Amino acid sequence: MPGSNGHSHGADRLALADAVIENTNEGVMIVDTDGTITSVNPGFSHITGYESADVVGGKPDILKSGRHDEEFYARMWAAVERDGVWKGRIWDRRKNGEIFPASLIIRAVKDSHGKLLQYVGLIVDQSPFSPDPKTQNYYDVITGLPNRVLLNDRLEFMLAHAKRNSQILAVLMIDLDRFKSTNDTLGYSAGDTILQTVAGRLTKTVREVDAVFRLGNDEYAVVLEEIAQLEDAAKVAKKIIRNVFTQPIRAPGGRHELYISASIGISIFPHDASDKETLLKNAEAAMYRAKEQGENSYEHYTPGMNPRALEVLTIEYRLHKALKNEEFLVYYQPLIELRSGAVMGAEALIRWKHPEMGMVSPGEFIPIAEENGLIIPIGGWVLDTACQHAKEWHRKGLPKIRVSVNLSARQFQQANLSTIIGDALKRAELDPKYLELEITESLGMKNAELTVRTLKELKRMGVYVAIDDFGTGYSSLNYLKRFPLDTLKVDQSFVRDISTDPDDETIVAIIIQMAHTLKLKVLAEGVENASQLSFLRRFGCDRVQGYLFSPPIPVDQFEDLLRKTKGRFL
Ligand code: C2E
Ligand code: MG
Ligand code: MG
Repeated sequence: MPGSNGHSHGADRLALADAVIENTNEGVMIVDTDGTITSVNPGFSHITGYESADVVGGKPDILKSGRHDEEFYARMWAAVERDGVWKGRIWDRRKNGEIFPASLIIRAVKDSHGKLLQYVGLIVDQSPFSPDPKTQNYYDVITGLPNRVLLNDRLEFMLAHAKRNSQILAVLMIDLDRFKSTNDTLGYSAGDTILQTVAGRLTKTVREVDAVFRLGNDEYAVVLEEIAQLEDAAKVAKKIIRNVFTQPIRAPGGRHELYISASIGISIFPHDASDKETLLKNAEAAMYRAKEQGENSYEHYTPGMNPRALEVLTIEYRLHKALKNEEFLVYYQPLIELRSGAVMGAEALIRWKHPEMGMVSPGEFIPIAEENGLIIPIGGWVLDTACQHAKEWHRKGLPKIRVSVNLSARQFQQANLSTIIGDALKRAELDPKYLELEITESLGMKNAELTVRTLKELKRMGVYVAIDDFGTGYSSLNYLKRFPLDTLKVDQSFVRDISTDPDDETIVAIIIQMAHTLKLKVLAEGVENASQLSFLRRFGCDRVQGYLFSPPIPVDQFEDLLRKTKGRFL
């Protein structure tokens, strides 16, 4: 999932910003200057059992366990007043009365003049078995699939993401035919088997990045993100019919073979709708039309191609020839260590110079290359080139810096990834400690075991790994805990308004703090001015990257820059 190009709208950015706090499992509590709680996130409710309505307007002492004396709390707040922050272990009490151990960070958030705006508390449940009411509200008990509540939640997020990256997204609404009568004749346990089998087959049929939901009784939805063209949604619908609904299902007891058919309605963003309500409504309308067509059919909400699909086809065709024609270049952008002011690395960013189209931005062609698999050879070429350039800098006596290479989800999922990377390092004769790989949060990561295994293998080789565009994907920080990572790159959409928008300020402060508790270095992307820089410094951000220092530039210019600055920027 390639990152943002910095063109997102304010509203999207805020939605995404909120989404970090909304989706993290850590409890976040915002308290105003008189000590009144003004908001809490779902993670907070999940941990404490208190819903937002229970606590907003009240005081944080509702969590007091009784295990600490008044002096403990007085010392805690004195530290917040004095140092701006308190970190420690604390016993808190849940709504149900249970006392539990937590780690707590309280930070005073101030504006640029040092005026206190609010306090942010971050609670991490440290009890061995934390209750998980959230899981029950968001997942269907029979199939284990995420339910309608989660679909509503996620779809908003996915749409914002698709908008930012000009991607096509499709919703497939799937309804089983005559399920009720099957259920009535064969009984509930047969009904459950059918629902579970359909759920399992659906999940296997779609790509890892696509999300499957169970919406209600006999209704499912599949959301296809990042599809290359409109026709792909129909292709998937056909595949679903073939793989899920033309194979018999064996009822428990094994005597009956059931054939279950379904009707599928398709609605596409941005073609058919731009908001989630309309998108879902249109998919449903199309599904009803499909029902009229008879068993196992699908319908588009509005059939037809759009000009964007043609454009995609053209780019796809030209991409095939680009590697052979040597139309790709790698640009470099310096990564700067805030404490020392030294350049510690360079991010390799691909550029495509096409004879007719001119410079095509990676945001435009990477998603297409990702879709049709060309990202594998293209990404391999970037990796090789970047390793060779880094080695050259070292040979020329320039500062010994690390090179960062972006890996797309598809590259990351290659079975022989570590061999590919090992080979590139060998060819360039580059020490692995001078290579960092940037991966983005993606739904593909939901196969956490595989992700952990791959990351461990990379670690063993000695290369560094960064999580890129943090805050625009799906993984919560809590989730990242399991992954052996080195660096967290905060997406530029959060950095943009950090000096003018107290919300963004708070979010970045929280991200930095949470990342540090996970022992990750934090890099802020898209730093364009001095006031952003001073905020980042104050929040303890480790590294920065952005136009304030240099845009991405061709390799010879980058070498000049290293020479002129002697690798020092601040
Ligand atoms: P990214 O990895 O998050 O890269 C950072 C992007 O932010 C780059 O966009 C960079 O030019 C831009 N940027 C840097 N500083 C600033 C700033 O101060 N302000 C603003 N507004 N933007 C800034 P670029 O080069 O267009 O690349 C876009 C995305 O395309 C990258 O996001 C990355 O996800 C993807 N990409 C680029 N090269 C490769 C590659 O070789 N392989 C893969 N898989 N993806 C790549
Ligand atoms: Mg990157
Ligand atoms: Mg990025």
